[in-house]
Amino acid sequence: MYRAIRIHGYGGPEVLQLETLPTPVPSRGEILIRQEAIGVNYIDIYFRTGLYKVPSLPAILGMEGAGVVMATGAGVTDFVPGDRVAYPTALGGYGECRTIAADRVVPLPSDIPFDIAAGCMLRGLTAHMLLREVHAVQPGETILVHAAAGGVGLLVCQWARHIGARVIGVVSTEEKGELARQNGAADILIGHDDLAARVRKLTDGAMVPVVYDSVGKDTFVASLDCLAPRGLMVSYGNASGEVTGISVGMLATRGSLYLTRPGLTTYFAQRSALLAGAKELFDLIIQGVLTVRIGQRFALADAGAAQTALESRATIGSTILLP
Ligand code: NDP
Repeated sequence: MYRAIRIHGYGGPEVLQLETLPTPVPSRGEILIRQEAIGVNYIDIYFRTGLYKVPSLPAILGMEGAGVVMATGAGVTDFVPGDRVAYPTALGGYGECRTIAADRVVPLPSDIPFDIAAGCMLRGLTAHMLLREVHAVQPGETILVHAAAGGVGLLVCQWARHIGARVIGVVSTEEKGELARQNGAADILIGHDDLAARVRKLTDGAMVPVVYDSVGKDTFVASLDCLAPRGLMVSYGNASGEVTGISVGMLATRGSLYLTRPGLTTYFAQRSALLAGAKELFDLIIQGVLTVRIGQRFALADAGAAQTALESRATIGSTILLP
């Protein structure tokens, strides 16, 4: 038997229930992992509230984790029991153990601790996707990054600084601003009011070639207003609510803008891309270029409190659960 956090319906943090379940047996192509650390991400909140739908209820939430292989199903050749592993995007993470398709898992180098892996697999690959794939950020480029002190945000700041870009980070408090600055943001804007005017001032009127917006509803239009002509709006999250009611003409009147809504599962659908992205991420961590800041650690049983902290903007960096 093992303990996991399940939902039987969508709703507030109270729908997250700690339950004892029979230990699963890996099917063909799957492995069973004993989890040492589990990531808590904003997407877990979308699945809990029903903004994103789980395939069926009841469901175990959680997309990201790290641990040790306990057993392998038929046909698995990449892993053997005892291997250290991690994964970024597979529903079913909030448990002491779990089964998972082996092709969604990567080997975890011995010099990356489990908690760091659980704090960076999803968030670090998101930073990779944003800065290297969605838009290949160039040295000297100025980029606007929302939620710059968050789990994804701190890694984006560090990685962009490493590339040689100038980050304008948007955060809600001075404390978060200081943290984002320490992690590579050159300039900090507190709050979303008059965003375009403040970006104009910081860029001497040039505005920015790309905005990374994870806030969604509250900032979408303001972010478009910060772009230079033919700039790229990367809307990649909905922390303040879903973006709806967009008119295509908004892109034309603001200077022939581009808009994309990228998702990690598309960018890392191929196993080769997942392995390459994880290797690059781990190498940068081992070299000390990226430092994963785990701001909050909760017991598995306190998953509700962890999600409440994340959605009330009370967190910095990554949040993890410890089984
Ligand atoms: P964060 O740690 O960044 O937490 C969310 C942050 O968003 C808050 O700390 C807060 O920062 C900011 N925020 C602004 N407005 C609100 C609001 N109304 N309610 C709550 N938060 C608000 O979370 P994650 O690192 O887990 O994820 C960051 C974002 O990236 C999420 O939107 C997530 O959905 C998205 N994402 C998308 C992926 C994709 O594939 N498209 C993959 C991974 C993440 P502040 O207080 O400074 O404003």
